Amino acid sequence: AIWHILGAGSLGSLWAARLARAGVPVRLVLRNAARLQAYQANGGCLTLVENGVAQPIFISAQTTDSAEPIERLLVACKAYDAEQAVAQVAARLRANAEVILLQNGLGSQDAVAACIPHARCIFASSTEGAFRESDWRVVFAGHGYTWLGDAREPAPATFLQTLHDSGIAHEWTPDILTRLWRKLALNCAINPLTVLHDCRNGSLQDHHCEVATLCVELTDLLERCGQPVAAQDLHTEVQRVIKATAANYSSMYQDVANGRRTEISYLLGYACAAALRHRCAVPHLQQLQTRLTTHLASKGLRTD
Ligand code: NAP
Repeated sequence: AIWHILGAGSLGSLWAARLARAGVPVRLVLRNAARLQAYQANGGCLTLVENGVAQPIFISAQTTDSAEPIERLLVACKAYDAEQAVAQVAARLRANAEVILLQNGLGSQDAVAACIPHARCIFASSTEGAFRESDWRVVFAGHGYTWLGDAREPAPATFLQTLHDSGIAHEWTPDILTRLWRKLALNCAINPLTVLHDCRNGSLQDHHCEVATLCVELTDLLERCGQPVAAQDLHTEVQRVIKATAANYSSMYQDVANGRRTEISYLLGYACAAALRHRCAVPHLQQLQTRLTTHLASKGLRTD
């Protein structure tokens, strides 16, 4: 089957380049004619920079309103763009199309799934790292793993061998929601504080009490949300991640530093909304959200 890649940003380009390089048929699905024209003007190719080596990879592209039917769709937009972008191609999806959702956090996946009930939505959680050096040029910055799963149907997706042949490190898991909740909790305990304290992950070791208090509330919240496995030893894991990534700036820190919109509504915002729904008291998480939105607003950034 042809892979349609919706969103040729960092992760979308990283996936597209590796699939195309392995001989898999790939189409980039761009937002409009202007973006398509810009891509053609670039020679109709992406550049993948890996271990300092830049490799051009030629990939066909089209806009969302192309007529080509879609059997396999990788949604590589930001969480706040995913639903609208998928709606633009929903009519092109074949019955039983497989749709892979790469978005960080929670909330966007359910919104997307609700607007394409005829497709199989596969949720992903990735620890790979990539960034755009410029348009159509992506740097593979951190090797990692992508976990894939379908909360409604444990049978593995049909394309795992293709991922393997393309060198995309992955694992199928029936517990993808556990992974997404766990990652969301880690994000809530670390990323907002790095923004507010203007620091690298490692400096949160100087804010031990604040981190510990958030972990108590997050653990309680995960349990109340029916995610006891994601709650296990959360504080220990948060401390481990802070040490292991001490020199890094978190993704939210980088978004704010570069004046980009954050995915707050799908991370800390989602956690606070879930707490309200479950009548779970999380005063420090709520205060953290207030501090963060105030901070974003003061920088002229969106708070949703
Ligand atoms: P990104 O570089 O900003 O790429 C998003 C792409 O989506 C952009 O190229 C954008 O197009 C495109 N897009 C938005 N709306 C569209 C539409 N309606 N039609 C077509 N294309 C559309 O974002 P990213 O860093 O790859 O992140 C994607 C998701 O993966 C996020 O949820 C992020 O948290 C998650 N993630 C990223 C990484 C990473 O290392 N980058 C790692 C793990 C998880 P334009 O270029 O035209 O603006």
